[in-house]
Amino acid sequence: MKIAVLPGDGIGTEIVAEAIRVLDTLDLSFEMESALVGGAAYEAHGHPLPEATLKLAKEADAVLFGAVGDWKYDKLERSLRPEQAILGLRKNLGLFANFRPAICYEQLVGASSLKPELIAGLDILIIRELTGDIYFGQPRGRRTAVDGHFPGAEEAFDTMRYSRPEVERIAHVAFQAARKRSKRVTSVDKANVLETFQFWKDIVTEVGKEYPDVELDHMYVDNAAMQLVKAPKKFDVVVTGNMFGDILSDEAAMLTGSIGMLPSASLNAGNQGLYEPSHGSAPDIAGKGVANPLATILSAAMMLRFSLNQPEAADRIESAVKHVLAQGLRTADIWSAGTTKVGTREMGDAVVAAITKKTITG
Ligand code: NAD
Repeated sequence: MKIAVLPGDGIGTEIVAEAIRVLDTLDLSFEMESALVGGAAYEAHGHPLPEATLKLAKEADAVLFGAVGDWKYDKLERSLRPEQAILGLRKNLGLFANFRPAICYEQLVGASSLKPELIAGLDILIIRELTGDIYFGQPRGRRTAVDGHFPGAEEAFDTMRYSRPEVERIAHVAFQAARKRSKRVTSVDKANVLETFQFWKDIVTEVGKEYPDVELDHMYVDNAAMQLVKAPKKFDVVVTGNMFGDILSDEAAMLTGSIGMLPSASLNAGNQGLYEPSHGSAPDIAGKGVANPLATILSAAMMLRFSLNQPEAADRIESAVKHVLAQGLRTADIWSAGTTKVGTREMGDAVVAAITKKTITG
């Protein structure tokens, strides 16, 4: 099992270090190799995704990624900005399926801005198509308008497009994921206005016929955005395109209170994956030892489950995280009166202890 470790920038190095300590605690043999990515790679090699880093990622079974970015790179030309490393990895590894679970841990119900009864027990999975849609569609650019409301004016344009195989493969991913859960899929589209999403809806419906045991419904994206804050527990698996998924997955993330708790996985057709916390590099708290490492530790658990075929080890990590929360340990982002505030390292220590003491059986 070969893992490429790409800590990146800001809190990335601090939180990935804790995830590695947790992985080292398991009785499994991994080959782990680290490389620079993002701003750190730009400083050392002049590019956010150097060839050697990309080669390491391609050759690994899985990539454990921290976060990239810092405000100081905002003036660099776009192709050299740290965030380009993530897009480059997605494209080069063909990571088309993004899994973002939004789980509300019992002990953190109070951290959400929604009423406790709306989110207690929340466990939904947003599956976002990651390599198509308007984010990648060509042509795009700026030009002088020849028609529209203001012919002759300067205009900008992007192209929303999906091919049949792109929609079919993400639909299969969603139905298969639903089979392991409560067998319900909601496909989110904008079929009432967009040709691309009528096509999406038709294909998801066709693919759904191959999964008669899974209940499928369709929802327009504007309604889905409302329902996520009105009655989020009605959802189980949500599948949608790249742009709608970008927005809805962040909305779902916030239902649970802290972005510091949320893992994510991006997979290709061969189950090779990139695993990262849903948050960024948090330059405001970098180097202070206060970042929450749990999203990264939970991303490592997803890596064990999806790419490394070690579901029991994944269970052990997830149970250990629940155990430390039950002990009342909290980093600053999830702290509330009556609980014990700890730093990044202490939180990592507590998860390691919960695993090694074998108090956790998974
Ligand atoms: P951010 O997610 O880094 O931070 C938002 C807020 O959440 C900050 O107040 C931060 O302190 C807090 N936060 C984030 N993670 C935390 C954690 N683990 N524990 C405690 N608090 C945490 O988003 P931002 O501030 O908009 O972006 C900062 C940089 O990160 C930018 O350069 C941005 O481009 C980049 N970014 C990278 C990724 C990625 O690497 N996948 C994703 C989003 C943003």
